[in-house]
Amino acid sequence: MNKAIYPGSFDPVTNGHLDIIARASSIFDQLIIGLVSETNKKNSLFSITERENMLIEATKSIPNVKVKIFNSLLVDFAKKNNSKTIIRGLRAFSDYEYEFKMSLMNRNLDDSIVTLFMMPHQSYTHISSSIVKEVSFFNGDVENYVPKYVYEKLKEKIEAK
Ligand code: ADP
Repeated sequence: MNKAIYPGSFDPVTNGHLDIIARASSIFDQLIIGLVSETNKKNSLFSITERENMLIEATKSIPNVKVKIFNSLLVDFAKKNNSKTIIRGLRAFSDYEYEFKMSLMNRNLDDSIVTLFMMPHQSYTHISSSIVKEVSFFNGDVENYVPKYVYEKLKEKIEAK
């Protein structure tokens, strides 16, 4: 079975992530979404369980997608899941430098694992979890940028703050 890993913090999952998930799951037998439990990005808005639930809900119609939480080196997580492919999304040139360094670091850690970059539809190239959170925080409308379930959870979270 040809498996790929799509890692990220998904705080929260957006339609941009889902575009990449749809593309990757259509070319691999199984796509494992690797949800990073500990990140160096401070102040995540959603807990790990909330992020996991949002991912499960958003991908429930795609049978070959699984969500797994991990807290280790990405290449170790890939090996543990018998996957030789890491999927990353590239939105703009600004992503390139960081992604370039990460993929070379991962290659140095394990040369048998390949990082595959995918570009989303152009209508999602400006979306990030951070922008979605920032706009929602000031009551801007992000309905077109996230799945409905996430939209509701975002509203609840911001109202509770
Ligand atoms: P990370 O903390 O690993 O950057 P993110 O949840 O922010 O986690 O992103 C996970 C992956 O999804 C990354 O490869 C990122 O570039 C990609 N990604 C995020 N937003 C989009 C988008 N709008 N279109 C395509 N790829 C995206």
